This record gives sequence, C-alpha cells and structure tokens, in this order.
Amino acid sequence: MKYFILFGPPGAGKGTQAAAMADRYGLCHISTGELLRAEIAAGTELGLKAKSLIESGALVPDEVVEGMIESKFESTKGVEGFLLDGFPRTTAQAVALDGILARRSAEVTSLISIMIPDELIKERIRHRAVIEGRADDTKDEVIENRIRTYHDKTEPLAEFYKKAGKYNEIDGTGSIEEVSGRIFGLMDNL
Ligand code: AMP
Repeated sequence: MKYFILFGPPGAGKGTQAAAMADRYGLCHISTGELLRAEIAAGTELGLKAKSLIESGALVPDEVVEGMIESKFESTKGVEGFLLDGFPRTTAQAVALDGILARRSAEVTSLISIMIPDELIKERIRHRAVIEGRADDTKDEVIENRIRTYHDKTEPLAEFYKKAGKYNEIDGTGSIEEVSGRIFGLMDNL
C-alpha cells in the first residue's frame, strides 16, 4: 500500500491535481478540507466546532484531522494506496501520521510539493471563489490568514520530509495539463 502526500500552499491546485492522480494510479483521495466541509454541511457537532476556525483561516485541532484520517484508512478497501491532500499541515500531524502508519506496518511513500509563488496564491484563490463558492475563499483577511498559517505552520514540514528523503517538488505554474504532466512524470518513476 502506497501513501502519498500532496503538499503546497492554498490555491496551488492540490484538489484539482489530486483527482487526476487518484484516477491514474488507483489511489483513494483524502482531502481533510473536503471532509471538514462535509461535516459542516451535515451540521454535525464536529462541523459546528470546525466552522468558525475554517471561516477565520485558522487550522482545526490536530486530533480532529488525525482521527478523520485514521478512520478513512480503516474503512477504505480495494485501493492501491492513498493520496493525502491538505494533511499533514503541522509537524505534530506529520509525527502522528508516522504513528498511524506504523500501526499499519506502513510508512509515507513520498511527498509531492506543488510550488507556486505567493503572488499567484491570491489570484488562484479568487478564481476558485467564483467557481466553487467556498466561504473561506472570499474575504481578503481570511485569505491572508490562510497564507500566513501556511508559511508559519505548514511550510516547515518540507524540512521534515527532506530529512526523511521523501520530498519531491514540482513547478505548479502554468495550465492544469502542464502541471499534471510534471506530476505524472515524477510519479511514474516513484
Ligand atoms: P483546504 O480545503 O485543504 O484548503 O482546507 C480548508 C480549511 O480546513 C483549512 O483552512 C483549515 O481550517 C481546515 N483544515 C483542512 N485540513 C486541515 C488539517 N490537516 N489540519 C488542520 N486544519 C485543516
């Protein structure tokens, strides 16, 4: 079983690329952001707690997303592996993921980082706001807070996976097809 991590700032195109990657390599795509939005839409207790955090551009507590990931691993059968999108987002989550995988006698296969410059982040998010209508994509201060959260809490994770020899980076600028081409070129050899 393979465990890939898709990494990059908000607006890098992780969700779009994850769908194509899951399809091509037979992977189960797990987006913690999508799982949280589904909880909010269903009006669950967890969704109610997560809503204000998400709408302010902050992260939800580590234990919440760690629990979601582990139960998704346990309930999913018949796939070649998993593609994690938006998780891990903190060093604590990365350490927890190693623990979850160790219990499954597995480890992270590889991390693929989609890199885009800061100027492009806001442009991409504004474009997505029109298409997807996400509440956290519309307000400037929320977008700024998500970018800050990414730089402060998530970007340091790159070092964690570089040290583990699992870090791969691709250029996320250009068209969807161009970026997919770069990702497939890399993954075909992993
Ligand atoms: P995303 O769809 O990945 O951009 O996630 C949307 C929002 O969900 C984030 O801004 C966070 O508030 C929350 N979220 C998603 N994944 C995580 C995670 N791994 N840890 C903490 N919060 C998360």
